[in-house]
Amino acid sequence: MSQQDPQIQTPRNRRTDHERMQELFCRALHHGTVAYKAFLRNGDAALLRERSGDPATPPIVPSSVFFLPGDPAGPYQYARWSNPTWTALEESLSTLEDAECVIFPSGMAAVAAILCSLPKSGDRILLPSDAYYTTRIAADTYLKSAGVSVLTCPTAEIQDQEFAGLRMVWIETPSNPGLDICDIRKSVTKAREAGATVIVDNTTPTPLGQRPLELGADALVSSDTKAINGHSDVVFGHVASRNVELISAVRNWRKLCGAIPGPFESWLVHRGLETLELRFERMCSNAEALAPRFFEHRKVQHVRFPGLPEHRGHAVAQTQMLRYGMIIGLTLSGKFSAEKFIDGCRFIRPTTSFGGLHTSGERRARWGDQVAEGFVRLSVGCEPLEQLWKEIKNSLDGL
Ligand code: PLP
Repeated sequence: MSQQDPQIQTPRNRRTDHERMQELFCRALHHGTVAYKAFLRNGDAALLRERSGDPATPPIVPSSVFFLPGDPAGPYQYARWSNPTWTALEESLSTLEDAECVIFPSGMAAVAAILCSLPKSGDRILLPSDAYYTTRIAADTYLKSAGVSVLTCPTAEIQDQEFAGLRMVWIETPSNPGLDICDIRKSVTKAREAGATVIVDNTTPTPLGQRPLELGADALVSSDTKAINGHSDVVFGHVASRNVELISAVRNWRKLCGAIPGPFESWLVHRGLETLELRFERMCSNAEALAPRFFEHRKVQHVRFPGLPEHRGHAVAQTQMLRYGMIIGLTLSGKFSAEKFIDGCRFIRPTTSFGGLHTSGERRARWGDQVAEGFVRLSVGCEPLEQLWKEIKNSLDGL
């Protein structure tokens, strides 16, 4: 395979979904203020003239209280319940997700909001055994002792399990860190028959790379610490759902338990969201160009990337993803080579996390993930491709 001629193609059969997603993104991008919200709805420019002098970007409102004389009324009463800076971001995210969104101070707070508001004592839930480990630990720690049975199986096998008797099925696809694929449509169909609720952790692909709610999932969670904020300077998350009961339960959980995001962090994520499409496009096209080059490199034993035809989940990924994302899994000969590869590349930041502007990489076995000692999770950033490849290739060649 020629290095100048990457073989990976964006899934063509999803062009309509892609165009619709881009329309939603444009709307989300312009959705920052009250005036524009109304203008977007009905295109009446007179509405904008009436708001002449208003700030064109959403303000940061740090107030913990709002004027509230007499009987409580109005959208803002106390800042644990609601806040105008949250509203601006939630409305933008809701536009992009095409579903109601509730924001949280971390991805795990979003995960916990679902885990704590949905399953009840006596329920059985199914979680992936190989996906983001903290979700599994949180379920084991807090749900098992509350009388919920927590079952697990590998991501690639979820759609083939028996769903009868399950209350909830948790999917993370592509899984972190193994990048395995679960068939969302098939899982949703089986879950409907069994009366189970399907939750998708959509952190790795982002709303621009995969649309779980359109594939029938009941809700999604996202760690916005990753690509949605994208600048590695905020920890954040959200839940999205079109199920009114489910999303109200999640919102109520936030209000009662107090896992609320700060206004400044919300504003930063809002700003990050505005460049998501640009960054995501660059990260995905870089990853699509690099994956085949890794595949060809003699020091790389194995490459995992859902866009490669060799990936065992590629056929399903083609039908349910809009882009294949920015994460590539590389297996090198062992711990020493993996560390040497990361340390030897000036354009790979040795950090944990992914989806940031800067390319980053880490050896996931250091956290006890079920991967080879030499497995590196590489999060491809927004650097110009050929400069990035030159540095990466130098480091690989030197192993
Ligand atoms: N879900 C996935 C797939 C993740 O990778 C992570 C964090 O790495 C989380 C959820 C938790 O997000 P946060 O670190 O923002 O709490």
